[in-house]
Amino acid sequence: MHIQDLFKQSPTLFSFEFFPPRSPEQAETLYEHMVRLEKLRPSFVSVTYGAGGTTRELTRDLVLRAQNQTGLTTVPHMTCVKQSEAELTDLIGAYARHGVSNILALRGDPPNGQPHDWGAERFRYASELVSFIKEQGPKLGHPDRRGFGVGVAGFPEGHPACPNRMLEMDYLKAKVDAGADFIITQMFFDNRDFYDFRDRCTLAGIRIPIIAGIMPVQSVAGMRRMAELALGMRYPAPMLRALRRTDGSDESIRRVGIHWATEQCRDLLDHGVQGIHFYTLNKSGATTEIYKTLGVSHSGQLLEGNDLGI
Ligand SMILES: Cc1cc2nc3c(=O)[nH]c(=O)nc-3n(C[C@H](O)[C@H](O)[C@H](O)COP(=O)(O)OP(=O)(O)OC[C@H]3O[C@@H](n4cnc5c(N)ncnc54)[C@H](O)[C@@H]3O)c2cc1C
Repeated sequence: MHIQDLFKQSPTLFSFEFFPPRSPEQAETLYEHMVRLEKLRPSFVSVTYGAGGTTRELTRDLVLRAQNQTGLTTVPHMTCVKQSEAELTDLIGAYARHGVSNILALRGDPPNGQPHDWGAERFRYASELVSFIKEQGPKLGHPDRRGFGVGVAGFPEGHPACPNRMLEMDYLKAKVDAGADFIITQMFFDNRDFYDFRDRCTLAGIRIPIIAGIMPVQSVAGMRRMAELALGMRYPAPMLRALRRTDGSDESIRRVGIHWATEQCRDLLDHGVQGIHFYTLNKSGATTEIYKTLGVSHSGQLLEGNDLGI
């Protein structure tokens, strides 16, 4: 189902992100976590795409397995850096034939440290990929006459390659004008960044739903890795202080991470967020705990209306 149709059914969507495993053993473990998370009835799950197409087949296989063998609405990420038009057409065609309804269209980053010739790219920015996917869906025989629903990335703290925040908003608007139906944000740890981003989107005339990206911190090593991968992302001082007050064990770091993410989600829900996207890191535990504390029911909807006399 198109994500924009899911928004008509539910005021708040919940989604989980996975990355494709690299070995058959990891694939089985991930699949078990996905089945566990399926019980939480997420609105959709998404599967990342390795930089430069490095996981093209792995992503496709995981997406089609999840789509065909679970009841999960599955959204593949697709990046266009170092991808030819033929490669992407092939992949879009496979998704169309299998009835995948939505794609998250991204530019991606060139592989680490390598100089990159942007002039040689068929698709230089995600906005061009959005138009291409929108055009190709009906041409490649997508069963929905509208073709694919398309999501794009948003950056509440700004994207590191564009220090000019006014121009950055113009570029985000260009993705929306190219046909994007929803935005999923980069992870952030201070909700004020998200609220300001949402307000700036409104002022820029961006009216599509914005899904907030939340990552429960699970280890210090993971924090460092994410700071490197999501350049520009910031861990706020109160969070760092809370982590420093622990005994440093993995379990204590994890508890603080889950507590922080739960509080972020509670505050986002109080402020009318349209969706929350969990960066699960291919594990089910943290997301399941957050869900329980937030009061998301077995139908994947928020429990509402129980006033408990208070
Ligand atoms: C939710 C989410 C999921 C992600 N999933 C993946 C994934 O699966 N695989 C992966 O490799 N990466 C992924 N990324 C990372 C993403 O690919 C990188 O952050 C990338 O650098 C930016 O991608 P984009 O789609 O925002 O690109 P774009 O929107 O094209 O923006 C890229 C940069 O170019 C600037 N820009 C855009 N248009 C123009 C223009 N017309 N002229 C000049 N500058 C312009 C933007 O401001 C930005 O700085 C994800 C990020 C998010 C937030």
